[in-house]
Amino acid sequence: MTTSDEPPVILYIEDNPDNQRLVVRALRNRGYHVALADDGMSGISAARDSQPALILVDINIPGLDGYEVTTRLRSMPHLQHTPIVALTADVSPGARERVLAVGCNGYLSKPINPRQLPEQIASYLNGKHEQLAAAIETDLLRQHHSRTVERLEHRVRELQAANADLQELDEMKNQFLASLSHELRTPLAVVQGYLDMLNTGTLGDLSEPQREAIQVARRNLNTLGSQVNNLLYLQELRSSELTYETADLCDLIAGAAADLRAAADRADITVTLDTPRIAPLNLDGGAMSLALYNLLDNAIKFTPRGGSVTVALAQHAEHVSISVSDTGVGIPREALNRIFQPFYRLATPYTTDTPGNGIGLALVQHIVEAHHGHITVQSIPAQGSTFTITLPRP
Ligand code: ADP
Repeated sequence: MTTSDEPPVILYIEDNPDNQRLVVRALRNRGYHVALADDGMSGISAARDSQPALILVDINIPGLDGYEVTTRLRSMPHLQHTPIVALTADVSPGARERVLAVGCNGYLSKPINPRQLPEQIASYLNGKHEQLAAAIETDLLRQHHSRTVERLEHRVRELQAANADLQELDEMKNQFLASLSHELRTPLAVVQGYLDMLNTGTLGDLSEPQREAIQVARRNLNTLGSQVNNLLYLQELRSSELTYETADLCDLIAGAAADLRAAADRADITVTLDTPRIAPLNLDGGAMSLALYNLLDNAIKFTPRGGSVTVALAQHAEHVSISVSDTGVGIPREALNRIFQPFYRLATPYTTDTPGNGIGLALVQHIVEAHHGHITVQSIPAQGSTFTITLPRP
């Protein structure tokens, strides 16, 4: 609530720091509070969320210019009667009329005179409103509108070109990721093969410390392998069709859980499967297994030691649901929409300390939607999360 003790707020939209300082100094000494905005867009946002006593707008500012900003400000009901004063170095013929036509109450020319400024501001606050003959105003407004549309056209063309560039870059990034993951797959398989030979004793007996070292290397290689697999799959899925077969979800879940049993044991996490056998579905078994593996992997990764993870399968009249619940760190509400974006990871210490590249959930969502299903998430920070896949029944 505004009280009479609070100083009147002058919103000053100006990109030049010298002018900003000058105006702040000149007005602060006279009991005003000056709020600054560096360009047209931030000026509009600042004005939208506040009720300044007066708005001082420079005409030549980045982004939207002062004419466009004034037009926008005047369209806001709460600013209909707020004095808006243009401050500009443009002293060419017609400059004053142009600012009045778009809705300014007056016009102050630069350079700013700090001695006169407080009185000038006070006069506008006391109701000064310079007027324009109606015929001139109509004519100037027409010119203003056509200039605005021209600028808009130019901006749209710029945005279209920028968008085309971005799409090209995105395509290049996809190709790069696809070829990188292919390149990585072969050497990974070779290293895996040698580690397996060492582990099974094919290359001779190992001491206990050597065996332990090989186990650590294999675990890390598995993590790396699943990241590379995710990357490859994401690229492949974007361009390829699913291969449907009759699959048993109960078996797919059991398979994913078996692949992650060692990881769960190491983290002392109890994994419970509540998965009654249901009628087989027509699915891409490989893709769906990968989706389940990723959900379960996340549930284990993002649950502190000693927690628990439950996978539940249920059959309904028209759909089948698979939910993966954990008692883990949870996800804040504002991040729930973003976690499905490729490469997005929460900026929390827990996530930073956990291996991953932010592809898993994007992949899961892609796979589920390719099966005409959908995925939802419910989560309470510090209590846990539940991801639910819903798939249509034939
Ligand atoms: P990654 O696991 O490789 O980081 P994902 O795409 O699978 O990538 O997940 C994105 C982010 O969503 C994770 O980094 C994490 O911050 C959050 N997240 C996913 N699953 C969970 C979960 N079960 N509990 C808490 N946070 C999760």
